[in-house]
Amino acid sequence: MRIAVKVGTSTLAYDTYRINLRRVEALCRVLSDIKNRGHEVVLISSGAIAMGSGKLHLAARPTDMPTKQAAAAVGQCELMYVYDDIFSRYNHTVGQVLLTGSDVNVDDRRRHFCDTMNRLFELGVIPIINENDTITTEEIRFGDNDTLAAIVATNVHCDLLVILSDIDGLYDADPRCTPNAKLLSHVAEITPEIEALAGQHHSTLGTGGMETKLKAAKLCIAAGVEMIIANGSDPENLYDILDGKAVGTVFGEKKL
Ligand code: GLU
Repeated sequence: MRIAVKVGTSTLAYDTYRINLRRVEALCRVLSDIKNRGHEVVLISSGAIAMGSGKLHLAARPTDMPTKQAAAAVGQCELMYVYDDIFSRYNHTVGQVLLTGSDVNVDDRRRHFCDTMNRLFELGVIPIINENDTITTEEIRFGDNDTLAAIVATNVHCDLLVILSDIDGLYDADPRCTPNAKLLSHVAEITPEIEALAGQHHSTLGTGGMETKLKAAKLCIAAGVEMIIANGSDPENLYDILDGKAVGTVFGEKKL
């Protein structure tokens, strides 16, 4: 199987805007093991802006464009340094791919992106993808990595996209204020009723929320890619997902 895993900033970093090494080490170990099983793996990783903010000792996540872009330039290096280091320990090779909207909206460029990705898979590399935050402008931004992950997963024909987040999945009410809210285990299609469940919650570290995850789910369902939202606090959840156990919320046709 070709598996895309998206990991959000709130899973990768502490509130201090520094990297959560324990979590990232666990994630890289599980992904290496999944690759050892014979699957192809692509990681869509956020965290550049947060990591850069931490390294530059900024008081909070920046809001102005030049500081965000500067923080991303610094943070992306730290992210890739850590990924390269940990994956190398498990004898795996990573490659960095930074994208802007125009790289996939123009046919020619999308083809080049897909060709490069396929070659990376053939070479046994784990591609690690992020938005090219340092140079993107408002007009060509994906804006959030959930959408970016769905665009990657559908263009390179992944069988599965797992979005690892700071929440277990989609609930029938906001679990932060409704204690008996129930986790929905399967959503076949994104109806207006489902969209209404997204709520307005956004984490302080990342940029996405349930809204962007449902947008990603729509893209995946339309392309026949199974998508799962699961809690990233324990990356071993990925083993259960591959073993066909009920984890998080599955969107679209269940394939596992
Ligand atoms: N590309 C951004 C980063 O790496 C994150 C976008 C998102 O959180 O969705 O910091």
